[in-house]
Amino acid sequence: MAQLPDNPDALYGDVIMEHYRSPRHRRRLERPDAEAEEFNPFCGDRANLQLQLAEATSKDAVIAGVSAVAEGCSIIQASASLLADGVHGRTVDEASDLSQLFRDLMQGKPLPPVALEELGELSALEVVRQYPVRIKCALLPWVALEEGLRRLR
Ligand code: ZN
Repeated sequence: MAQLPDNPDALYGDVIMEHYRSPRHRRRLERPDAEAEEFNPFCGDRANLQLQLAEATSKDAVIAGVSAVAEGCSIIQASASLLADGVHGRTVDEASDLSQLFRDLMQGKPLPPVALEELGELSALEVVRQYPVRIKCALLPWVALEEGLRRLR
């Protein structure tokens, strides 16, 4: 297992550190349509996700509101923030596709350029693959997302 250097900036890069320092979508929703929370007892990471649809009745409804609050290391916080940015404005199906793409990225599956484009800033988290112990941290908010999406269906 690789040793984590003292200076995480150099390790993780600008996108991750930017989202870690100024996480997006942390404000709680007043009336979420779904909420899910995941906890990793191994390292104490926690992710709480709230989702709100534009019209709760339509099957193609867009995720108009998202709140992602993560506690723990810089990776889970950056991942939660990037997730929130990524799913905001997508339909439930699109968000679920994005989640699958992100898992593929973290598992090291070769992705076509179009998939990397779809992931956008999220592809910055690929660097975490060099530190296997942190992959779970990056994925935890996505486990919460998938649970939340299930509750919306
Ligand atoms: Zn962590």
